[in-house]
Amino acid sequence: MSTIYNFSAGPAVLPKEVLQQAADEMLDWHGSGMSVMEMSHRGPEFISIYRAAEQDLRDLLAVPDNYRILFMQGGGLSQNAVIPMNLVGRKADPVIDFVHTGSWSGKSIKEAARYAKVNVAASAEASGYTTVPPQAEWQLTPDAAYLHLCTNETIDGVEIDFAPTVPAGVPIVADMSSHILSRQVDVSKYGLIFGGAQKNIGPAGVTVVIVRDDLIGHALPLCPSAFDFRNVAVNESMYNTPPTYGIYIAGLVFQWLKKNGGVAAMEQRNIEKARLLYAALDADDFYQNRVAPPYRSRMNVPFYLRDESQYEAFLAGAKARGLLQLKGHKSVGGLRASIYNAMPIEGVQALVDYLNEFAKR
Ligand code: PMP
Repeated sequence: MSTIYNFSAGPAVLPKEVLQQAADEMLDWHGSGMSVMEMSHRGPEFISIYRAAEQDLRDLLAVPDNYRILFMQGGGLSQNAVIPMNLVGRKADPVIDFVHTGSWSGKSIKEAARYAKVNVAASAEASGYTTVPPQAEWQLTPDAAYLHLCTNETIDGVEIDFAPTVPAGVPIVADMSSHILSRQVDVSKYGLIFGGAQKNIGPAGVTVVIVRDDLIGHALPLCPSAFDFRNVAVNESMYNTPPTYGIYIAGLVFQWLKKNGGVAAMEQRNIEKARLLYAALDADDFYQNRVAPPYRSRMNVPFYLRDESQYEAFLAGAKARGLLQLKGHKSVGGLRASIYNAMPIEGVQALVDYLNEFAKR
């Protein structure tokens, strides 16, 4: 098979070495005679896999000791309900602040409104979600239950690369689903970071939540017990059966990241990959990326063709070259290249070569 590069937004490309190791260990994990899929989550084998994954993620992101790492289920969208159910109980008359930067923060706003008052402190709607409103214009609530941001809008390709200044005591909740582990972050600036695994972490089905201790233990009575952060934290993510195989693969990805220089080295590679791709798009009038340059995502690059009649030909030509899953999200159309950690620079170069060639044709 010739080389394939997979630009899917998620579930997305995983490191080849990880998939190879998983294949080698599929039937018999480390001489245990069992596949990881067949192990009790309470047995010593799986507990060792779990603890290593937790520790490696903690090391990679330098997660401080006063934060718990939870491996949950339900995906990013479930957290849009789970987070308010766990966090608004700290306030008598809770308000949740949001900055609306695209599709995913939009969904979070809608869902949170079922649990508390919502204040859209700033919105990029007027720009068509191609920028981040200047921080000075955010109308933040002084005693908000929290401020929610989607720090990388997977569909719109808008990335927030800073932790904003917030009123004292207001925790920042960040949906980092599509750029977690792609760049260095100071976890201590956030109250809670969450993300579905299926982009930069591992297979769909695992949802990572990194939450500060003082935000745990305030769940509303209506919160399902399996989604109460306290139950999940006290039981090391094993209040109910966790997504064991997904956690195992995530653990292999964490080891792969460590072997390859950790998040700092990944970030350098990601800067270079994004630079290459945006430069190619900007160089030819045939292509258009609409995002304001300071907020262009390093992970998800949506783009359009000036000639609308060429989309099918573009995608067919890409597929013939082994460049897969470049179709844009159905809500915005166009094209999108997701270039997560596991996408090698050679894959981005192959796409750039194709972009140049197709435009000339
Ligand atoms: N947030 C972001 C930023 C996402 O990209 C996605 C999925 N693409 C979600 C939330 C929803 O995640 P899930 O499908 O795992 O519920």
